[in-house]
Amino acid sequence: MAVAIVLTLVSQIGGLIWLLSLCITRPWRKRIGFAGFLVLFASLYAAGSTLSHAVAPIFGRVPLPCFDDASRLRMQSPLYCVLNRQYVVPKLREAALALSRQMDLVFPGTTTLALDGNFPFFDGFPLLPHLSHSDGRKLDVAFYYQDNEGRFLDKATRSPVGYFAFEQPSENSVLPCKDRNDILTLRWDLHVLQALWRPLLLEEKRTREALRWLSDEGRGFGVEKMFVEPHLAQRLGVSAENIKFQGCRAARHDDHIHMQVAK
Ligand SMILES: [Zn+2]
Repeated sequence: MAVAIVLTLVSQIGGLIWLLSLCITRPWRKRIGFAGFLVLFASLYAAGSTLSHAVAPIFGRVPLPCFDDASRLRMQSPLYCVLNRQYVVPKLREAALALSRQMDLVFPGTTTLALDGNFPFFDGFPLLPHLSHSDGRKLDVAFYYQDNEGRFLDKATRSPVGYFAFEQPSENSVLPCKDRNDILTLRWDLHVLQALWRPLLLEEKRTREALRWLSDEGRGFGVEKMFVEPHLAQRLGVSAENIKFQGCRAARHDDHIHMQVAK
């Protein structure tokens, strides 16, 4: 049962398919063994994910491109697609596609990478650890990176999943959460992980343009607000009333951009 709960939390449909697989294999569990069970589960899960892809639009959610090489917008890792975390409302998909087109127009050869979106079904079902990603209107977008010589690296992220490689503030930065010691918080610094990531530098021009476009032309596509850490907005020189700080108890936003569209 614990497995089913974990699978539900990470992939929405996984838990249900785990329980279904248990029911189906019950009469001949001994004969097929655990390996046989896993094969059945994987097959049903793949079928369930394919079916979700087809059915989600009826429930108002559409998938973002996973493996489409021609698209300038891509999910950062196939893992997001395997776990059904690439779904958003159609309006958000249009806004994200428009952002990726703009980035490729201003900086030809640029791919915009999407991180966690939402699950395919039901409003109110949170995509942990993001409590707010529960209605299809929220999407995280990866930063753009370059190497030490200042060469842009397309489709590159510092960490394997695009998250948790934090840009560290400088001494003169705005730090609204300084000296706070909240116990109940999702603001994790994850110090031990930082040394594991690729030593890439933030590509400031592209990251700045993405934030600028989202806060300006993005409004025409229904973009309501973005979350980014104040020290990063300061460093990039972007400010707008819809570029907001997420608060000190929410996750850090100096490793990705959170965007959301209005209802
Ligand atoms: Zn987010």
